[in-house]
Order: sequence, then C-alpha cells, then structure tokens
Amino acid sequence: MIEMDGIVAKMKNQKINYDRVLKKMIQQWERSEERPKIMLHSCCAPCSTYVLEFLSEYADLAIYFANPNIHPKKEYERRAWVQKDFIEKFNQENGTNVRYIEAPYKPHEFMKMAKERGLTDEPEGGLRCRACFEMRLDMVAEAAVEYGYDYFGSALTLSPKKNAQMINELGAEVQKLYDVNYLPSDFKKNKGYERSLEMCKDYNIYRQCYCGCVFAAQAQGIDFKEVNKAAKEFLDTVETK
Ligand code: SF4
Ligand code: SF4
Repeated sequence: MIEMDGIVAKMKNQKINYDRVLKKMIQQWERSEERPKIMLHSCCAPCSTYVLEFLSEYADLAIYFANPNIHPKKEYERRAWVQKDFIEKFNQENGTNVRYIEAPYKPHEFMKMAKERGLTDEPEGGLRCRACFEMRLDMVAEAAVEYGYDYFGSALTLSPKKNAQMINELGAEVQKLYDVNYLPSDFKKNKGYERSLEMCKDYNIYRQCYCGCVFAAQAQGIDFKEVNKAAKEFLDTVETK
C-alpha cells in the first residue's frame, strides 16, 4: 500500500501542502490501478459532503461517526441521523456504496480526558481541540484496522475553522500505533469548502452552530435548552416519517 512518508520526505518546504501529498498518492493509485478502501472520520454531515464527492472517484469509502465530544445527547443523535441520511442519499444519487459506521456514544470518556488533562478552560483551537482530534483519529484508526480498511483519515480538514496542519501531524503520529496508513488531506483546497456549501444546500443538510463540546459551546453562549428542543423536534419529525 502506498504510504505518505516517502512523498513527504521529498517535499523540502517546512509547511507541508497535504493536499499535494494526497494528489500524489492518488496519482500512484491510478498508476498501479489500485482502488483503496478508506475510512474517514466525520463529526457531522457538512464536512463529509465534498470529501465523499471527491474521493469516491478513486476509492471505496466509509464514514466513521465517532464523536464522544458532542454534547448534549440529542444533538449528537441529530448529527448522527443527518450524517447517515446524507450518505444514503449520496449513494442513491451517485451509484456509490459509501458505508456509514457509528461508534458507541461514550461522552464520559471525552469529559474524563478533558478534565484529567486540565483542558476544560482551553480556548477553541487550542490544546483541548488537539487532544479531541487525536482521540477521534485514534478511534478511526482502530476501527479501520478492525473493519479491514487500507487507510484512515479525517473529513475535518475541509473546515476553514479546523487546523489541517495539526490534524495531519496527529494523523501521522497515530499511524505509528496501528497497522493502517494515514490518508493526508487538506480538503478545503481547490474550493472544497465552497463546494460543500453548495452540496449542503442541494441535500438540505443541517449545519450546526457550535463545534460540539460543552466547553466551547458555553464559551460561545450556546443555549442548551434551545439546542435540545430543536434536536428533539427534528428527531421526532424524521422518525415519524
Ligand atoms: S468540523 Fe464542524 S462542520 Fe466539520 S464535521 Fe466537524 S462539526 Fe461538522
Ligand atoms: S471545540 Fe470542537 S474540536 Fe475543540 S475540543 Fe470542543 S468539540 Fe473538540
């Protein structure tokens, strides 16, 4: 299987262009007529839209919904439902067979990690986010091994609010612990983010107003009663259809 390390070693610049690394990997798959199996982490549907559209041309894909960070539970259930529903519709429209796999929801594990490591007061984008990305990359790497995927990766590099450099560096570290390759990416390049906005409109996808954890949401002044109410109403509607 083609690995990122050889490609990265040839890039002399300090700041690695992970989009270029991915494109070179894709060229190598095409040359060797490979169609790898890739499992990607996602925390709600929007980031997965363009990522599935782009990668499904070259690979067989699964989205792994592993998000103990999302609070409260109803909001977690809403995001999971929307992610699964988008994949079903995407498959129907494109004749693809993207899988949706969900990890058991264990929010106490995220809370325990954040508290034990003293990260509860970190600002969004700081050390708590680093630990949160690492936790979820670790979960997807473990699942990729379990389900027999060639690569694990993250759809989150699509988001302009997420530090793609940090996510890729963590992915390369996590790769050392598992018998599966990390898929580098910077999906926001080549107008990936703009395309995701179009796709969210086309598929009528719910876009959340906070990242996920209780700490960042509180700092942002999110009203959890409202979030719960809206998520419950949404789930009641879709479940009775
Ligand atoms: S980074 Fe934000 S928009 Fe992207 S999948 Fe996660 S919560 Fe959704
Ligand atoms: S703000 Fe988002 S990425 Fe950062 S710790 Fe919270 S849920 Fe995780």
